[in-house]
Amino acid sequence: MQITGVSQTHLSHDLGDTFEPTWIPGYPQGTHEVELFEIETDAGITGRAASPSFAGGLDYADALSFFLLGEDPHDVGRIRRKLESVRLIGPRPWHLEMALWDVIGKDAGKPVYELLGGTGDPVRAYASTAERRGPEERLSYVEDRVAEGFEAVKLRFGPDPEDDLGVARRVRREFPDLTLMVDANMGWSVRVMEDRETWSAKEALRVARELEDVGGVAWLEEPLHRTDYEGLARLRERTDVPIAGGEFNEAGELRDLVDRDCLDVLQPDAAIATGIRGATEVAAHARDHGLDFAPHTWTNGLGFAANLHVMAAVDADWCEYPLEPPAWTPENRDFLLTESIDHEDGTVAPPDGPGLGVELDRDAIEAAAD
Ligand SMILES: [Mg+2]
Repeated sequence: MQITGVSQTHLSHDLGDTFEPTWIPGYPQGTHEVELFEIETDAGITGRAASPSFAGGLDYADALSFFLLGEDPHDVGRIRRKLESVRLIGPRPWHLEMALWDVIGKDAGKPVYELLGGTGDPVRAYASTAERRGPEERLSYVEDRVAEGFEAVKLRFGPDPEDDLGVARRVRREFPDLTLMVDANMGWSVRVMEDRETWSAKEALRVARELEDVGGVAWLEEPLHRTDYEGLARLRERTDVPIAGGEFNEAGELRDLVDRDCLDVLQPDAAIATGIRGATEVAAHARDHGLDFAPHTWTNGLGFAANLHVMAAVDADWCEYPLEPPAWTPENRDFLLTESIDHEDGTVAPPDGPGLGVELDRDAIEAAAD
C-alpha cells in the first residue's frame, strides 16, 4: 500500500460561548480551531489525523507530501523517522501517526487498541476543568459531575493560588470522598493577551504542602516549567503529593523526566507531542519505573480517540475527560465527528470501529472550514 495524497484543512468551530482557559491567560476563547489532515492511499483507504490549532494555524501539507508520498502507511517506524525530519524544518508533526493507525486498522478491520494489544474495556475518567472559577460556581460544577458518575475532578490553579486553594478546600469539605487533581499549568502557556507568571520552586512546594493537607489529591500537575528537570525532581522529593506532567514534552524529554525522577504520573499526548507509538513507549518506560500513566487529551475528537486507543492498549490509570460547559462540551470538543465520545458513569471506552473508530461529520467540517 502507498500513500498517494496528504491534505490539510484549517477548521474554526464556533463554540457559541466563550471560556478562559488557564493556559491562554486573559484570552476569551470562542472558537475551537483544528488542523485536520487526511492521508489517502492507493487502496482507497483514508486515514485521519488532527492537531490543535490557534491563530489560523500553519499550512504544511506540501512539506508533508514531500516526505510521505509513496510510503507504506503500515511502516510506522520508518514514517516516524521521516516525521523526525519534518520536525527539523517545521511544526510538530507527531499527530500524523494517528492517520497511519487509522489506515492500518481499517485495512485489518480492527480497532487500533486491538492492534496495540489492548481490550476495549472502559477507562475510569476524571472531569477536567479549564477555568479558574470561584467556590460557588465550581461547587455546582462538581455536584453535576458527581451526579453523572464521576469520582474525580481536576481543578485549575494559577499565579496567586490563594483563591484556588480556597476552592479546593471548599470542594473537599463538601465532597470528602472525591478524588481531586490540580493542574497549575506552569509547564507552558500561550502568551497572547497576558504574560504568564509562573511559580517559584518555593511557591510550588508551598502549594504542594497545602494540598497534602487538603487530602485525596491524586496529583499536582505541571507545577514548574516542563523542562525544569532539577526543580521537578527536588519538588517530588519534598512532598507526598504525586507530581504529574509531560503533556507537551516529546518522547526524548519524557524519557528524561522518568530517568531523572521528576514525575510520579506521566501524561504524554499522542495528538500533540509523541504520536501513538511514542505514547505507548512512554507508558512502558513509566511502568518499568513503577510510575502511573494518565495521558493528556485536551485537543479534539480525533485526538481524544487516538489517546483513548493508547489508554486501552496500556491499561492507563486515568482518562482526562475535558469538560467545561457551557463553552467546552463533548459536542464542541468533538465537533468534527458524527458522534461525540461520551463518558458513561465516569468511564470512557475507546471507539470500537476499525481504525480510530470514528466518522467525520462532513457538514460540520464544511461549516468550520476556511
Ligand atoms: Mg495539564
